Amino acid sequence: MKIGGFLEQSLLDYPGFMAAVVFAQGCNFRCGYCHNPTLVLPALFCNALPESLIVGFLEKRKSWLDAVVITGGEPTVHPSLPNFLRQVRSLGFRIKLDTNGTNSSMINYLLNNGLVDYIAMDLKGIPGDWAFWQKVVGINLSSKVRLNIEHSINLLINASVVSEFRTTFIPDLHTDEIIQQIKESVSGADRYTVNVFRDGCLVNNALV
Ligand code: SF4
Repeated sequence: MKIGGFLEQSLLDYPGFMAAVVFAQGCNFRCGYCHNPTLVLPALFCNALPESLIVGFLEKRKSWLDAVVITGGEPTVHPSLPNFLRQVRSLGFRIKLDTNGTNSSMINYLLNNGLVDYIAMDLKGIPGDWAFWQKVVGINLSSKVRLNIEHSINLLINASVVSEFRTTFIPDLHTDEIIQQIKESVSGADRYTVNVFRDGCLVNNALV
């Protein structure tokens, strides 16, 4: 997997656990509000960190870290993600995956093979309102990608792992009514959270 960044410890990224955070390089969306352009735009990529470096660090720190969070960028664009997660799992860590939900077959594989404990998926708008989604994600969504997103939502709602959906609230696009409808569309999930985006910054994270 191409790894563009690594955070040695965090108490914010996996609720209730001390976690290391691995940032995957590359993403198939181009959200205008993205706070990680160096992980999204190839022209801004740094040299990728070797998996062996990360796994070696985790092995040394496994006595005081509980979990590893895989975020990005979009981790599921990497076919080698399952192999990386197997290495992490073999060290005994809990695993949380952050995803935009566009690779439902990868998510299904990870669930079926016990390679995740927690999945947090971005919901950019009301599922099915693809014209709105396209305004947020900055690309056209093919019918295949739309189906994948819907499939990922169903997988998470019915999964035995912890499922979270989350939306970054963009004042020029989202309304309270839209947020309420998104929340209702995933009412079977464990959590729905909203990040508030103002003046170029994510300023708080509120459970709704
Ligand atoms: S899906 Fe996430 S990482 Fe990708 S462009 Fe959008 S905000 Fe950035």
